[in-house]
Amino acid sequence: MQQNFEQVEQRIRAACERSGRRRDDVQVIAVTKYATLAQTEQVLELGCEHIGESRWQDARDKWASLGERGQWHFIGHLQTNKVRDVIGKFTTIHSLDRMSLAKELNKRAAAQGIEVDCFIQVNVSGEETKHGCKPEELLEFAERLKPFPQLRIEGLMTMAPYEASEQEVRQVFSTLRQLKDELNDKNVFDYDVRHLSMGMSNDFEIAIEEGATWIRLGSILVGAREGL
Ligand SMILES: *Cc1c(COP(=O)(O)O)cnc(C)c1O
Repeated sequence: MQQNFEQVEQRIRAACERSGRRRDDVQVIAVTKYATLAQTEQVLELGCEHIGESRWQDARDKWASLGERGQWHFIGHLQTNKVRDVIGKFTTIHSLDRMSLAKELNKRAAAQGIEVDCFIQVNVSGEETKHGCKPEELLEFAERLKPFPQLRIEGLMTMAPYEASEQEVRQVFSTLRQLKDELNDKNVFDYDVRHLSMGMSNDFEIAIEEGATWIRLGSILVGAREGL
């Protein structure tokens, strides 16, 4: 796994250089959804403190053992009835996509007296299988999040289509960046929405070139289902 980290690091640096960006502006989330407890511990030992999981059922045991040693990011579709399980454990939710979820997150966070960092997930590609609010509904959705004081909107998140040309993927990522700029131009929040959570194993370099500040890497870094 160490070799994966080293190789990926080189590719991240090259992508930053190509696009005139600072390496420090891109953070890596190691997605451990298919990884064992031991592999997840290895990720932390290699110095990557950001762990991404997409289902509470898969994360539970790993979090119980390693929760205090990293920062946990919830990157998958979050069912409203799972919010009580993840709140206070996952510092960041990358999949805020509907009002009912916002309401529940705010309520549970308030009960614990904490704030929760959120990314609004946007379905830029429009694929039916993907979650996220529609790009044309983003402004209105963001406006409706303002009354929730426990939610801090860090940025926007998207997933590019898996089998698409580089040009199509690039288009998806650059659209997400434009949507973020629009939120800030319109001053929807009284703070700047700064982050873009986009890019996975097969498209992270394009994402970096288009402005990603968080990339979510599973198979290339940690391993696919059976581990690397
Ligand atoms: C699984 C997953 C990833 C990581 O996928 P890889 O292709 O293995 O890098 C990133 N983001 C989300 C939302 C995921 O579900």
